[in-house]
Parts: sequence; C-alpha cells; structure tokens
Amino acid sequence: MPTKGKLKSPEKFIRPLVRKLDGYVPGEQPQASDIIKLNTNENPISPSSKVLQAIKKAADSRLRLYPNPTAKPLRYALAQLHCCQPENIIIGNGSDELLALATRCFVEPKSSGAKTMKEIARQTIQYFTPSYSLYPILANIHGARKNEFKLPQNYELPDISSLIKGKWNFQAALTYITTPNAPSGAGYKTSDLAKICKDQNGIIILDEAYIDFAKETALDLTKRFPNVIISRTFSKSYSLCSQRIGYFIAHPKLITALDRIRDSYNTNELGQTAALATLTDLSYYQKQFKHIIKARSQTSKTLTAIGFDIIPSQTNFIFAKPNGLSAKDWFTKLRKRKIITRWFDTKECRDRLRITIGTKEEMEKFISATEAIVKKSTRR
Ligand SMILES: *Cc1c(COP(=O)(O)O)cnc(C)c1O
Repeated sequence: MPTKGKLKSPEKFIRPLVRKLDGYVPGEQPQASDIIKLNTNENPISPSSKVLQAIKKAADSRLRLYPNPTAKPLRYALAQLHCCQPENIIIGNGSDELLALATRCFVEPKSSGAKTMKEIARQTIQYFTPSYSLYPILANIHGARKNEFKLPQNYELPDISSLIKGKWNFQAALTYITTPNAPSGAGYKTSDLAKICKDQNGIIILDEAYIDFAKETALDLTKRFPNVIISRTFSKSYSLCSQRIGYFIAHPKLITALDRIRDSYNTNELGQTAALATLTDLSYYQKQFKHIIKARSQTSKTLTAIGFDIIPSQTNFIFAKPNGLSAKDWFTKLRKRKIITRWFDTKECRDRLRITIGTKEEMEKFISATEAIVKKSTRR
C-alpha cells in the first residue's frame, strides 16, 4: 500500500550505519589573506609556472569533453619516473579516494556471522595510532572492524616481537601505514617496514604522502611483495592540493581490481594536465624541498633551545610539545596572532601541536610569536 499524505521522517530512509557516522574533520581553510596558515601541510610555494601555464592552456572549449578515463598519459609518465609499468599505477581523485577504494576492494564489511579468526581478519582494517586520522573514518564508512595499534612513546615503528606481544593482527585484510608518519613526523626505515610486509598476510598500504621530505622511500617493496601498495600524492609536496591527484603503485593484479570499482571519470582533465606538467619541472620542486627541510631544522632547533620537545621530523611539519604552557593554550594564543596550527584533541596528541613548515619568513614570525607567548605565560 502506498503511504499517502503521511508525513515521513527522512531519517528512517538512511542506513543505520550512516545515521551514526562521524565524517572526517578537515583543517580550517580561512579566507583572510593576512593569516599564516600552518595547519594542513600544504606547500607554501606556488606550483611551477609550467604547471600554471599548462592549466591555463587546457582551459578552453575542450572542457565540454570527458577527461581521459584512465589518465593514460599521466600513468605512462609516472611509470617512467618510478621505473615500473603503467599497469602498476592507478590515478585517484586525491590519494584519499584510493585509500577509500581499497576498503571496498580488499575488506569484507563486518557481519555478526563471522566466527573464526580468519573470517574476522577478512573484515579488519588495521593501523597505528596516532597516524592519519582518515583511516578510522574509512573503516567506519565501510562498516569494517578496526584494529588500532598504539605506537610507543617515541613514535618509532614497533618491531615484530612487540607487534606479536601487542594485539597486531598479521591476518588483517588491510593495513594502513603512514610513512613517514603523521602527525608525529617520524620516519620509518624501509628494512623495518619490509619485516612487517613479509609477515603480513593481507594488503599493506604504505602511505607516502610526505615522502619527498624523508630520507628513504619504500617503493621497492612493491616489487618484493605482491601484497604491498605505495600511495603517493601531488597534493603536499607538489603544491597541487586543489587539483586532487594521487596514485597507487602496486602489482598489476591489485591495480586491475581497484580499477574495476573506480568511477569511470574519477580524475578531471585539468588535474591530469597539472600533474603531467609537474613531472616536467621536478627540479623546481626539489629546490623547494631543500628550503622546507632547512626551515624545518631551523625551527626545530630554535624550539628545542627554549625547552620544547620536538620529534625528529622527516616530513613538512613538526610535532612539538611546548614548555611553560599547554599545547591548547599555545594553539589559541598563536591563533589570536593570526597563526593557525593544528591541535588534535585526542589522548595521544593533545599535549602537542602539529605545525606545517611554511616559508622562511612565515617560520620567523611563528618563532617570534611563540617566544612572546612563552615569555608572557611564564612571567608573574
Ligand atoms: C594529506 C594526506 C593524504 C591525502 O592526500 P590527497 O592526495 O590530497 O587526498 C593522504 N595521506 C596522508 C597521510 C596525508 O597526510
């Protein structure tokens, strides 16, 4: 019988899982131009002029056409860069899209019927805490089980015996490892990651969003282990957050599977164009990385000298514990001075701030603001 005339609450039409879901909370994107923005790990420098020109040149009547559905030219260029085949690469609308696709490709949603350890593992997504805060959200959206493994105090990668002693699941269907890690900034050795990849009977995604600021990449592990996926993005180091281009490198069988469930036109033509042009001017970016790494070590040194605790960083941000005031206070007082950083209100993170490394000038302003704030807080 049709329900005529009755008022219906739309709420009941929504899947129970979605009704209760908390979405990802992105960092603020303030509009004011006088703000020093050190909160979302963007590169402070403009994309290369070659990239800007390529986008402008591509913005014409061709916008009416669908983009290249498989981003073929970009995959060929990336294959050349990484010494692999185009079949090893899938392009995503940001790496976030691919991280989400992986849940649907490799993990069964939770069912109450699962009894054996093996069935439970097939429904499990695993990651370290703290790491990228999107992972638990993706697991929740998919309705998967979560296995969180707490990192030690120094944020270093646990060895196999600690994983065994803890509740690491070596059978988990999908494991995300941010390397170098966020928000700690700590780098992991490829040889240590290899030991985990070797013992893990499930997919491991090594999320290398910050690899250009690190000492080593684990890219070769995709050649040694068929269960390993490397995730990369043009967002952070290549100043292209707005264009949404990320990619996975992995065994062609994994790439084909991901391709099957991907939207046909998941990345737009201007994004593909911008990423391709980026690859023609890599030396421009490599110069920027050197500046950022230099500003990172300068900032770390100065903060350490005033008694702050800094985790040695291999990324374009630092994770700093203040001295003489709480992290929350530091965050609020910087904000009043129009400097925005990121404070995560969780047990593991709330006594530190994550500070993106900006330009040399921005970091000098950040340091003087911090010194003034500390002076005021410790007076009286
Ligand atoms: C920023 C970030 C991403 C997402 O990058 P997009 O390609 O812009 O979606 C993925 N992983 C980590 C760890 C990040 O910090």
